[in-house]
Amino acid sequence: MKKPKKTNLKVMKKAVSTEKIIVSGIVQGVGFRPTVWRIAQTLQLQGDVSNTGDGVVIHVKGSQQKINQFVQRIISYKPPLARIDNIERSDLISTYSFFESFTILASTKTSINTGVMADAATCKACFTEIFDTNNHRFQYPFTNCTHCGPRLSIIRNIPYDREQTSMANFLLCERCNDEYTTESNRRFHAQPNACINCGPQCSLVDKFGNKIAIENAISDVAQYLLAGKIIAIKGIGGFHLAALASNQQAVSTLRQRKCRPSKPFALMAKDSCMVEKYCLLLKNEKALLESPAAPIILLLKKKQQKKENKKLANNIAADQNTLGFMLPNSPLHHLLLNSIDEPIILTSANISHEPPCISNDTALDKLKDIADFFLLHNRDIENRVDDSVIRFINGAPQFLRRARGYAPQSIVLSSEFNEAPQILALGADIKNTFCLLKNGQAIISQHMGDLENYATYCDFRHNLTLYQRLFQHQPEHIAVDAHPEYSANKTGSEIALNQAVPLHTIQHHHAHIASCLAENNYRLHDKAVLGIVLDGLGYGEDKTLWGGEFLHANYEKSNRLAFFKPVALIGGTVAIKQPWRNLYAQLSTCLGWKWVKKHYNQTTLVNLLAEKPLKTLDAMLDKNINCPLTSSVGRLFDAVAAAVGLCFEHIEYEGQAAIALENKITKKAWKKAHFNFYPFSVSQGIVDSSPMWKALLKDISNAVSTADISAKFHKGLSLIIQDQTDELTKKHTIETVVLSGGVFQNKTLFEDVYNGLTTSGLCVLSHRHVSANDGGISLGQAVIVAARLIKENESKRE
Ligand SMILES: [Zn+2]
Ligand SMILES: [Zn+2]
Repeated sequence: MKKPKKTNLKVMKKAVSTEKIIVSGIVQGVGFRPTVWRIAQTLQLQGDVSNTGDGVVIHVKGSQQKINQFVQRIISYKPPLARIDNIERSDLISTYSFFESFTILASTKTSINTGVMADAATCKACFTEIFDTNNHRFQYPFTNCTHCGPRLSIIRNIPYDREQTSMANFLLCERCNDEYTTESNRRFHAQPNACINCGPQCSLVDKFGNKIAIENAISDVAQYLLAGKIIAIKGIGGFHLAALASNQQAVSTLRQRKCRPSKPFALMAKDSCMVEKYCLLLKNEKALLESPAAPIILLLKKKQQKKENKKLANNIAADQNTLGFMLPNSPLHHLLLNSIDEPIILTSANISHEPPCISNDTALDKLKDIADFFLLHNRDIENRVDDSVIRFINGAPQFLRRARGYAPQSIVLSSEFNEAPQILALGADIKNTFCLLKNGQAIISQHMGDLENYATYCDFRHNLTLYQRLFQHQPEHIAVDAHPEYSANKTGSEIALNQAVPLHTIQHHHAHIASCLAENNYRLHDKAVLGIVLDGLGYGEDKTLWGGEFLHANYEKSNRLAFFKPVALIGGTVAIKQPWRNLYAQLSTCLGWKWVKKHYNQTTLVNLLAEKPLKTLDAMLDKNINCPLTSSVGRLFDAVAAAVGLCFEHIEYEGQAAIALENKITKKAWKKAHFNFYPFSVSQGIVDSSPMWKALLKDISNAVSTADISAKFHKGLSLIIQDQTDELTKKHTIETVVLSGGVFQNKTLFEDVYNGLTTSGLCVLSHRHVSANDGGISLGQAVIVAARLIKENESKRE
């Protein structure tokens, strides 16, 4: 954003000047002009405000000091959904000095360019209306205005007009139309504007689709939930399954029917006071919880709760020290939660790894064996947008999943990227997102999930077409991962072939680093950084699987300086699901199985492993059958977790073993680990876990607690990362370090590494706007291609 221009107050103090101010960003369709008008009124300034293709244009007359104040207040008091990317100010000649008041100029239809925004939770004004018995929107579950309501989830095409959304079927009543067409009204051009007389309606049906209630649908659902039933509820971006969080039996039934034995369920509470009964809620966590994006936030469980609080079932997030809470994101949720007055489970309504249902018919078909009743409505969800998930690490939010409330908000890149052509990057196959680069901005899709699932893949194709249409994007270059098997790559090749545009393959971990550089506005020509990328698996330059990397990288290229010692992934993808395989691979590679057996024959660990078909595994290793090598730190975490008996046999979801291991650390154990941690060794840039395994086995045989073992592992790992970083940054005169990859979503590890490195004087960049896991890859791929093309052009010019 440009700084307000400097003013020589002594000269200008009494002079009256006139300025033209252009505000660009997300400024149309969000109630920006009435806000500008109000600020102008309070400062007694004259002029006008209008919408143009360039953004909001303001003409303003007054003293220089007041105009400066005016601009400052626009920045400070912008409407909730607005985002100011730039403010351009210029002097106007005297023809404009006849202004006598401040007016909002009418918009012609073509002058409004609202773009596509993220779905936003109910604003305060709408919230007040739905609980006001005198308001005609009292208890109306689809109330919204320009400050709130569905956006991405209901759009079909641009321009963003009612006819191009799933509100097209609902004809505005006279009263709603008045609001919609009155410039000063909060609902002026609020495309989903509706009321009880003209808008969508709810209905409650049983699992056979028989209507049970219409008028009292929401209060009936509340009664059913209180009685222990499971209800499928149509939300903003998809269906959820709801159950009463205090009802152990209902939660068990939900787990059983959903075939989801242990993965934590998200909760919804009616307000942050209710959340605070169960979790510690810091100021910035509360602010984000209550923000228009209304994400799920992972919050630390309170150890002790007041007796008067409804006790939550202990099978919601067993073995975790956090609970994922969100607040209502639609009036429907507000009305429901208000009549229940205790938290409910609200988990994405899907079956076996498929994406959540969005249509009434699919929900009734697919969820008939899970839900007892269905709370439906007749406003179609055009585009699936799952709930976003955030965890605060080191006091700042980090995305575990970026979707509802955030997508398709663009990320403004460092200005050199303005000259990049239009690029489409297709991301990774796990936690997939794609990214469109255009006009120096990166538009990242909502998280879609794992593309190996056919329904998710279909969703990915649907969104690709949608985003290209919504953002009028015509890719001149396509970027994909280097992995030969990714479905995203096949799609990329196909598009590149059909549209005759170049295809670029980008190394996975380089993309991780570049995404972090991009979201931190790192400049294109700035010095290369040390990127530390720890994750599950990514295809490496040497055709092995990487995942524990120290890369010397800038936007254009990367060079592998160091990495964790590669260990076989016995059985390939099976080993990702079965941590004991990684344990066996680690022990065989680092210490030799014979040695382990000889020294630790009496331990449970050795006994458990001995029951496995180790001969077959050895044969596979010998003949190198389906045993790709990997330097993955994600797999190292799985192996350590398995060694202490956590998720030994299998994991239900990615990262489960690592989360379980981190959760075992107690404050006391962590303190002790500062003085007593596991050693790692390094030789010629290869970090070797052998000394760590030796020490860990000794602790296991001495019955050291899991809390201590976990703490000593985390601390040892953090210190070897810091030592390696220290050595590499000195050797290569690097000042900036990037931390990326899903393993850094481990709060203990991230905070210790981050704080250690910053204390030693390094500048550390981490993820804030995109996910550190594979959800961030697409952004990295796009900026790498952009950087290479820009640099190529520069060298041609020279
Ligand atoms: Zn509102
Ligand atoms: Zn109406």
